[in-house]
Amino acid sequence: MGIIVKKFGGSSVANVDRMKAVAKIIAKTKDQGHQCVVVVSAMGDHTDELIDLAHQISAHPSSRELDMLMTTGEQVSISLLAMTLQEMGYRAISLTGWQAGIETEEVYGKARITNIDTKRILHELEKDQIVIVAGFQGISNQEITTLGRGGSDTSAVALAAALHADVCEIYTDVEGVYTTDPRVVKNAKKLNEISYDEMLELANLGAVVLHPRSVENAKHHRVKLVVRSSFVDTPGTEIKEEKSMENVRVVTGVAYDLDVTRVQVVDLENKIDALADLFTTLANENINVDMIVTSDYEKDRINVSFSISDQDIGPTLKVLEKKLGEQAKVSHDHHLAKVSIVGAGMISNPGVAAKMFKILSDAGIPIHMVTTSEIKVSCLVPKTQAKQAVQVLHDAFELGQE
Ligand code: ADP
Ligand code: ASP
Ligand code: MG
Repeated sequence: MGIIVKKFGGSSVANVDRMKAVAKIIAKTKDQGHQCVVVVSAMGDHTDELIDLAHQISAHPSSRELDMLMTTGEQVSISLLAMTLQEMGYRAISLTGWQAGIETEEVYGKARITNIDTKRILHELEKDQIVIVAGFQGISNQEITTLGRGGSDTSAVALAAALHADVCEIYTDVEGVYTTDPRVVKNAKKLNEISYDEMLELANLGAVVLHPRSVENAKHHRVKLVVRSSFVDTPGTEIKEEKSMENVRVVTGVAYDLDVTRVQVVDLENKIDALADLFTTLANENINVDMIVTSDYEKDRINVSFSISDQDIGPTLKVLEKKLGEQAKVSHDHHLAKVSIVGAGMISNPGVAAKMFKILSDAGIPIHMVTTSEIKVSCLVPKTQAKQAVQVLHDAFELGQE
């Protein structure tokens, strides 16, 4: 029988009892004759606690040392899970990211996986070991790197692709992918399946149930990906290629992202390459820019607004200060959040954005910025009204109904 990759998130391994419950799930698969590669995250909120510790020492800890610190979280959980399985009489071995051959770019905090050398894992599997790999981490030129918050999902999918696994199962604290975050909207509905493209949009737009790059990888390598609960034994949600365009939903889900800072650059000189120049500088510093709005209010001056992740504001201001100095006014605010609707059926249904704007305005929720793609519409709204926006959109697009 083939290889199965299973990934367990923080809440699934939050304490010793949870470790034992997870070990039973793994043991069952092993007993059925499969080879098991297991990816685990740090226990509970351990990663947050480690980051807190760092911030008690420094407001801006070095990114190298932060990665060194954060990766210890996964090292705790892999060894404990291996011990749990050994106590149950199974052969199990834990491997850190570098021991498992996970190579990344040399970027701290959000490295991409560049290659996986599967020799060691295959060698352990041949010895009939259950292989337990630390998620979220890799190695680049002998430096330990992390893949970005929530990155263990990406470790799991990348391993599944490299090992040609039969399936990659992401076990978490909800029963699958829902029409929106079931912790925010009580009548959110579990989806039996969702396309890679819709899932990728939802994940990129804030649905933390899957790390965006895990979906990207799964789509690229055609990995069979399933999200399911480690608490109850239900089938979960399969993420797969779109079946037929006939039964495509106009809106499949609603996502929100509170991690948004808007930056405004006012009075920038309107040269032909002004935007190219500004955004190339940000890209060179590895700053991910999301929404962008520009307006040329006079011939020779333009205003540019864009959104970034909260954590990037420090480096962004530094870069802009160095680049622009007194040439433009720069301001920023963190009081906004992004709320988005996603659905493959939008391509052939005009008026979806208009309906979204109407629903939000009827609820008294102002819209500060908008972006659209073929299958999504996103609005920046006040952070304090983001969850209300998710609820009214979910209701108005009737996503909770059978
Ligand atoms: P893990 O620790 O297992 O990686 P995460 O907290 O990263 O778990 O992801 C699971 C959480 O994702 C759920 O508890 C839920 O609140 C949140 N979530 C957000 N959007 C969705 C969605 N559309 N479907 C399911 N869960 C979602
Ligand atoms: N432990 C890491 C985090 O909290 C990685 C993960 O959970 O996927 O972000
Ligand atoms: Mg996660």
